[in-house]
Amino acid sequence: MTSRTRVYKTEGVILRRRNLGEADSVFTVFSPGAGKFEAVARGVRKARSRMRGHLEPLTRTELLIARGRSLDVFTQAETIEAYRPLREDLDRSALAIYVAELIDRFTIEHAENPGLYELLLATFDALAAGAPAHVVRFFELHLLALTGFELQVDACASCGDRLPPADTLLAPSAGGLVCVACRAAAGTGRIVPVAGIKVLRYARGCGIDQFAALRIDPDLARLLQGALTDVIQHVLEREVVSRRHLDEVARLSRASIPNPGQDVQ
Ligand SMILES: [Zn+2]
Repeated sequence: MTSRTRVYKTEGVILRRRNLGEADSVFTVFSPGAGKFEAVARGVRKARSRMRGHLEPLTRTELLIARGRSLDVFTQAETIEAYRPLREDLDRSALAIYVAELIDRFTIEHAENPGLYELLLATFDALAAGAPAHVVRFFELHLLALTGFELQVDACASCGDRLPPADTLLAPSAGGLVCVACRAAAGTGRIVPVAGIKVLRYARGCGIDQFAALRIDPDLARLLQGALTDVIQHVLEREVVSRRHLDEVARLSRASIPNPGQDVQ
């Protein structure tokens, strides 16, 4: 896809929707080739809208989009995968919404990340197939790695020293596990037992299905969930200012591209 084409085609996953005016909605889409973008569907809230069912959040959809003056406009939408099980089960639905939200928060507009798109599809596929909730830890770890915030679990994140096989502090501000010598300077975190460290290391090299098949003790699963939530919160809080700046830069540079396809439809 080039920036100058008037109409372009892409597949993408609908991350979220907001209403615009009386009958339109703006959808945030994550796509393999164009990254995250927004576009408007005209009249999509009217009962007779043909696109309506194809633009539900969490749906993987084939899209035809016309470039507009301010907002691009969907001209066609065709469901590839509705991920129905993600809507029909409350727990799975909550997990999928969380996954979509993290994709939204960890990406800036128009920055392609095909690996992250594959991760999103693999995570939705796993959840739709009934994978246990801990599969979201796999998603979080790979999300961090694919967006430049890889968690250091091999060696001490502060000094690089080897970690002995023992309970170890996972410190969000250090970006991973830290050795005993670095603990005081690394700030707060959670102590992860050896079994948990093994899970974190295993996640990097295995496939999502292998990770889903792991049996993780419920207490350990809760601990890992809390530890990764802390890491993600830390990254997002630290990044929020610079990310706003990046979004703004991306928006401005995009606005300056000569745009022949104005308000098609
Ligand atoms: Zn250290």
